Amino acid sequence: MRMGILGAGLIGRLTALQLSAEHQVTLFDADDERATQSAAYLAAAMLAPIAESVETSHTLMQMGQRSQQLWPQLLEQLDEPVFFQQAGSLILAFEQDSGNLQDFARHLKGVEGDDFMRIDAMRLAELEPELAAQSKPFKHLLYLPNEGQLDNRQLLKALEITLKARGVVWLAQTPAEVRGQQIRANNQLHDFDRIIDCRGLGAKTQIPSPSRLRGVRGEVLRLYAPEVTLNRPVRLMHPRYPIYIAPKQNHHFVVGATQIESEDSREPTVRSALELLSACFSVHKGFAEAEILQIASGLRPALSDNEPKIWVNDKVIQINGLFRHGYLLAPVMVEQCVALVNGHANDIPHYPDLIESL
Ligand SMILES: Cc1cc2nc3c(=O)[nH]c(=O)nc-3n(C[C@H](O)[C@H](O)[C@H](O)COP(=O)(O)OP(=O)(O)OC[C@H]3O[C@@H](n4cnc5c(N)ncnc54)[C@H](O)[C@@H]3O)c2cc1C
Repeated sequence: MRMGILGAGLIGRLTALQLSAEHQVTLFDADDERATQSAAYLAAAMLAPIAESVETSHTLMQMGQRSQQLWPQLLEQLDEPVFFQQAGSLILAFEQDSGNLQDFARHLKGVEGDDFMRIDAMRLAELEPELAAQSKPFKHLLYLPNEGQLDNRQLLKALEITLKARGVVWLAQTPAEVRGQQIRANNQLHDFDRIIDCRGLGAKTQIPSPSRLRGVRGEVLRLYAPEVTLNRPVRLMHPRYPIYIAPKQNHHFVVGATQIESEDSREPTVRSALELLSACFSVHKGFAEAEILQIASGLRPALSDNEPKIWVNDKVIQINGLFRHGYLLAPVMVEQCVALVNGHANDIPHYPDLIESL
């Protein structure tokens, strides 16, 4: 079949990858191939179904856990390696903020002992020796052994290379929209057997009512810190600025992220930069000499319940509302979409309210 995909961000590229095995795929994207304007480019790409479960539904946590299993199979299909890790994550709090950590632990939806465990300073020294050696030691800790992360920019690049090698037609810098059961781009209407709309916030005006898509602002830092070695993502529970530090390869770190109910897409503010920097310095003094590679802001595409949705209207499938869980959920969202296209939705897990037929 001829497949037309709008949006070559996270969901568009992965959907193209899965569909290109059997179908002829054309990708339309408003941006160039680096997708620097997408949420996908900015993200920390942590895969944290349990940590995120504090604010998500049980269903979303289960989708995240299935995605964890599916990621390695997706990455195996790529022509370039992508950093992917499943070494767990740590949640820390300073003495005065221990109440925040206890509250967080109370709201985790996983199973204590399997999905999360309280650990002491001795276990911290095994997992993260540099954190255990900090002058202000952490006494209140949670370890979430199954959480993961990947390098999002490596992933986007590897997908670009693989998709082009597979003959996917990639129309970069080509804004497109859905018109009825066709795609409108370059002042022309294009016909396809199926159309998949993965434009994230770019699809805001075409979301089926009564749903409403909004942008949720996030600011992140990228640091190069040769004096810091962390083996897994770390979250700091803090009453004013909870942050995470996600260590990528070669002492590169993503520190984030603010979450502000605003569609303001201006550059990051001094306040946010100070909060992120001071929080990461409070976790590890080695960040003092880190190079700031990037401070950037972006918008997460979110629906009113902050959970994702797939709408099916005859030939057109729309996937949106990935909010702060795009990497966490992408494999499952793509699996559902491909099953709809290929007609084997009964062979994979069903998630209530995920798919809506119009
Ligand atoms: C600061 C920040 C941190 C994050 N951290 C994480 C994290 O740790 N873990 C996690 O799971 N998720 C995280 N996310 C969320 C994740 O990045 C998003 O959920 C995900 O990128 C959404 O994927 P998408 O494909 O729907 O949209 P996007 O990735 O934004 O892609 C949309 C694409 O559509 C294109 N487009 C837009 N309009 C048009 C048009 N008219 N025509 C053609 N193309 C168009 C854009 O150019 C873009 O390439 C984070 C997001 C942010 C902003």
